[in-house]
Amino acid sequence: NREWHLLSRPVGWPQPENFALVETEVPTPGEGQILVRNTFLSVDPYMRGRMSSAKSYVAPFELGKVMQGGAVGEVVESRAEGIAPGDHVLHFLGWREYAVVDAKTAVKVDAQAAPLSAYLGVLGMTGLTAYAGLLRTASFKEGDAVFVSGAAGAVGSQVGQIARLKGASRVIGSAGSDEKVELLVKEYGFDAAFNYKNGPVSEQLRAAAPDGIDVYFDNVGGDHLEAAIGSLNRDGRIAVCGMISVYNNTEPAPGPRNLARLIQTRGRIEGFLVGDHYDLQPQFVQEVAPWVASGELKYRETVVKGIGNTLEAFLGVLRGDNIGKMVVRL
Ligand code: NDP
Repeated sequence: NREWHLLSRPVGWPQPENFALVETEVPTPGEGQILVRNTFLSVDPYMRGRMSSAKSYVAPFELGKVMQGGAVGEVVESRAEGIAPGDHVLHFLGWREYAVVDAKTAVKVDAQAAPLSAYLGVLGMTGLTAYAGLLRTASFKEGDAVFVSGAAGAVGSQVGQIARLKGASRVIGSAGSDEKVELLVKEYGFDAAFNYKNGPVSEQLRAAAPDGIDVYFDNVGGDHLEAAIGSLNRDGRIAVCGMISVYNNTEPAPGPRNLARLIQTRGRIEGFLVGDHYDLQPQFVQEVAPWVASGELKYRETVVKGIGNTLEAFLGVLRGDNIGKMVVRL
């Protein structure tokens, strides 16, 4: 069994020496536990936060210990009722090849109904993030013009497509390469998209949304947030999902300079955490799974092979190497 340990807390961009791939014995399950051979590991931006010691909504990773994260795998041994070898489960002990999981924290998934990796992405945590953030936090309604940043990523690509399928008047996305921008418009059906590296976000957004926006789904923060406030229509809503542009900062980033626009627009800005919205999971699957099955909602995954490349895959998410959900296949 190989597993990734955090050796020291990164300052700025994580460096290889902050981590080690460690060889250990395959663990043995106790009563009420299962042994899972992981098939797919999730690497997610929020893991950067857990590498620091700052107090947050999830505890920091412990130094010298194996890291954690979403994973799906096959049960190879079971000492728990209701779960048998050969079953597939979603659980939270990623960053390792084999995991002993408390059965009550594992969720059985159907390997026939969808590819296993989908339970980490389009039908999993990132999908629910898009659904809950757009529909609940941003109070999306038909006819809204929606802008989403990080639009070619796991969450963002789903936000834009759910908005389109639910009758947005206009869907605008931003992403970090021309290839991603083309994908948004040609494959995902966005009405407009731009590469934020090609010019000031505020100008590009104004050109893409000349009549303004009603909803901004923020994955990025920084100048994207300021630009969205600048283009917000009356009663506009901003759902703050993530601010990936600042995760590796060593100094706090300056805030938006135009917050006063929230007064004239009666605008609302609100952060959310997917963990508070799991009550929506059944509704989310019921509504979104058929769109995925019919191809009305498209998704991509970037699949990196091998436990040894997990750290690189994680860094790749922070750099923008991924299109859609980044996963590691073991
Ligand atoms: P993505 O698949 O979107 O991957 C992250 C993307 O961020 C990269 O592909 C990259 O794409 C983009 N990016 C990186 N640096 C910058 C930058 N400086 N400026 C603009 N874009 C940048 O990841 P997820 O879909 O998993 O997550 C998206 C966001 O949602 C993150 O901020 C994450 O923290 C947040 N999140 C929040 C949750 C919650 O409960 N609130 C739950 C899950 C995710 P590009 O090439 O376009 O730059």
